[in-house]
Amino acid sequence: MKSFDEMLKKYADIAVNIGINIQKDQVLFINSSIDNREFVHALTKSAFEAGAKDVMVNWGDSELAKIRFMNAPDKAFKEFPQWKADGRAELAKNNAAFLSITGEDPDIFKDVDSEKMATNTKTMLNAFKEFRKYTMASKVAWCVVAAPSAAWAKKVIDTDNTEEAIEALWEKIFKMVRVDKEDPVAAWKEHTDNLEKKAKYLNDAQFKKLHYKSSVTDLEIELPKGHIWTAAGEVNDKGTYFVANLPTEEVFTMPHKDGVNGTVKNTKPFNYNGNLIDDFTLTFKDGKVVDFKAGVGEDVLKKMFETDEGAMHLGEVALVPHDSPISNTNMIFFNTLFDENASCHLAFGKAYPTTIKDGSKMSEDELKQKGVNESLIHEDFMVGSADMNIIAEKEDGEKIQIFKDGNWSI
Ligand code: ZN
Ligand code: ZN
Repeated sequence: MKSFDEMLKKYADIAVNIGINIQKDQVLFINSSIDNREFVHALTKSAFEAGAKDVMVNWGDSELAKIRFMNAPDKAFKEFPQWKADGRAELAKNNAAFLSITGEDPDIFKDVDSEKMATNTKTMLNAFKEFRKYTMASKVAWCVVAAPSAAWAKKVIDTDNTEEAIEALWEKIFKMVRVDKEDPVAAWKEHTDNLEKKAKYLNDAQFKKLHYKSSVTDLEIELPKGHIWTAAGEVNDKGTYFVANLPTEEVFTMPHKDGVNGTVKNTKPFNYNGNLIDDFTLTFKDGKVVDFKAGVGEDVLKKMFETDEGAMHLGEVALVPHDSPISNTNMIFFNTLFDENASCHLAFGKAYPTTIKDGSKMSEDELKQKGVNESLIHEDFMVGSADMNIIAEKEDGEKIQIFKDGNWSI
């Protein structure tokens, strides 16, 4: 049994070398909560060992953010110093790599006025629009990994003892990112190869339409011409292969923004900016949400839809087997990084331009014409279940079942 420090070091090495795949003399920018100082120290060390030129950290404090939300006047949320966002875009322009650590309290903002929250989100998304072009189009290497905060650990692990909860959640994270394996790098290679094989099959088939059917869902999703299924890793503008999510179990592409019809129900809670939305059903017509209701967080969902036109359309279709390491923990993590990798999911909002042929080179008008959804938001929500069947249809009408009872059938 390895010590916690050894495991943390291995995890940091994987995040830096497999997730980001840091290159010599590159700058690494880390987004982290102050809860995760120890992990950030390990990451910084790993990055310098791997040849990074410098490491910069943007510390977040969600308790502080909450105090601001509860006390600052409304007008404070309508503006954001553009130079801060420009600084981030400048780093991206100069080929820095971006690592974000997720793991904050999933309910932290539940008492915040949803109007204020929505205003703030929109302000931030607008400010960081230029920067997000670099990450969404995979022009730079970026990666999201997780580390527990006390509040998150206590929400997920059933114990009153905070220390025990954090320790138990770390153990789960280490397992899900394969740090517990004798040779984590080899384990990752084998895993990503398997995912790439599925993506290749789907890319060769170029299905025209997917039909999702379960006891609660009946949804048809049209795929645009030239769509690209992506799995595990991507290659950025500099030719560096990076893995944007650790863990990752998904194979994903984009739907045609106007080609979604039917109804779908979520199967795991959807965490939107520190608010949980659950038990929701959506009805789509020609790609747009025309009706919705939610048992939990309906007002937050409504506000999210009001962000812009694209927020009511889909930008991602991701296939994840029900029988996967994360799913088999039988836990709900209330954190998108884990829950999305335990279930087939869809995303509201912007599509990754990398999931259509030449998408990264197209103008906004061209993307729109091809059926690529545009929005300030991109938010995954889970729809997979043990009784989910997916029938794929080719251009010539041939039908192939690609998911049977929640799992790959190809
Ligand atoms: Zn996804
Ligand atoms: Zn997504």
